[in-house]
Amino acid sequence: MRYQRFKVRLLLPHLLLYVVLLSCQSDPAVEPELTLEELEAAYQAYKEPSLSHRRFKHRDIVPLIEQRGADFSMKRLGQSIQGRDIYQLAYGDGSIKVLLWSQMHGNESTATMALFDLFNFLEGENDSFDSLRHLIKKQLHLRFIPMVNPDGAEVFQRRNSLDIDLNRDAIDETTPEAHLLKAAREDFQPAFGFNLHDQQIYYNSKGTPKPATISVLAPAFNESKDINEVRKKSMQLIVGMNKVLQRIVPGHVGKYDDAFEPRAFGDNFQKWGTSTILIESGGYPNDPEKQYIRQLNFMILLNALYEIATQNYHQYEVEDYFVIPDNDNKLMDLIVRKVQVEQQGQYFKVDLGIKQQEVRVDSSYTLSSSIVDKGDLSVFYGYEELDAEGLAFKPGNIWKGTHTSLDELTEHKALELLKKGYLAISVKKENKGEAHQLPLMVVTEEKAFRSGHQIGHAANFFLQRDNELRYAVVNGFVIDLRNPKLPLPAQHVF
Ligand SMILES: [Zn+2]
Repeated sequence: MRYQRFKVRLLLPHLLLYVVLLSCQSDPAVEPELTLEELEAAYQAYKEPSLSHRRFKHRDIVPLIEQRGADFSMKRLGQSIQGRDIYQLAYGDGSIKVLLWSQMHGNESTATMALFDLFNFLEGENDSFDSLRHLIKKQLHLRFIPMVNPDGAEVFQRRNSLDIDLNRDAIDETTPEAHLLKAAREDFQPAFGFNLHDQQIYYNSKGTPKPATISVLAPAFNESKDINEVRKKSMQLIVGMNKVLQRIVPGHVGKYDDAFEPRAFGDNFQKWGTSTILIESGGYPNDPEKQYIRQLNFMILLNALYEIATQNYHQYEVEDYFVIPDNDNKLMDLIVRKVQVEQQGQYFKVDLGIKQQEVRVDSSYTLSSSIVDKGDLSVFYGYEELDAEGLAFKPGNIWKGTHTSLDELTEHKALELLKKGYLAISVKKENKGEAHQLPLMVVTEEKAFRSGHQIGHAANFFLQRDNELRYAVVNGFVIDLRNPKLPLPAQHVF
């Protein structure tokens, strides 16, 4: 007996060690990460060339859906109110179900482009990605619903044709579009869901001037924002995405407020048991058509699918989700800092904050700027900032020469007028709405032009030092009159 007891005591530490080893083994081994080079190379090789700007329509994606190869199966889920087919594509024979849907807001198209890039990638073969594809195909069962709101996309607006926000219709299901998204989840019961959106370009990563190029959220499933196993997985996957993004675009990630919204899809998917990841594509400097942001979407989606297939996401800590900076809304297109403005014969030093608005023209758009804030704007950041210390605000004039047509106006002529203090010219009525890139406001009626520094005014003015016109701001675009960089982005004839 004594001997045996002795033996047990000797064995005990070994047993403990064995238990520890066993519990480690219950977590799958972490597979090697996909490198940034691999993710980028996959995008470059497979991006869909027929989609090159944000305002594509349903008719542009239908052929891309219907021409998919045998790896994909296609199903019509139903129709939008205006009768456009809403499609679902499926890929893979695995047991882990993942649903990805995009553009439930019609003017949020960035991720839709990335989904078509991903389809091309999944259909590729005989390259260095074959084993990755094989893994995804074997482990995952993917379903995609690109462009949930085709009627909104048709006119590039957020809401559907009934003017309902589909992302507030998850419970009521008033709209056929929301109904079929919900039915697609119920039919599939996915373990993971990717809810793909765009956000305003004015969101920044809190406390920094960096745009929140990608914002993320693991939506809450209740008012008290508890973390259960379902939500925990969303957070872990987001930590993996953030890791990739911080390497490519450091500081350009924001985390959305997780207040529970009982009518939204993300929150309800989470509540219904699908680990849901919200991705919001924001802004990035000099990427108005969001083609770089599309690439980022592709890279983090492919990486996330890999992490689901390998279960690599288990390695991430929930705490690292909360480390991601919050989203803030402190960006403007242009801030002119410390400019002297005149009022009642007195001068005041102020900052002027300017934002651009997109004005739809057929399937394209032009930009129209206005002054949106004034005063101490030190807590705001501009995509572009102009230090106007020592410069004075000077209103511009409209050239009242003979009525001319848009065709007769050359860039050279426009620049000559600008240097003489004219910010606008009026042309024949027939030109109204036409696009141009001249360094002047072009209007058909003189009263369409205003130059002032009050909020709501179009951003048209000069900045002068002594008697030299140093800068012109034309429809919100800064022109350095000593070194003008032309042409300007497209404007239309007002
Ligand atoms: Zn949205």
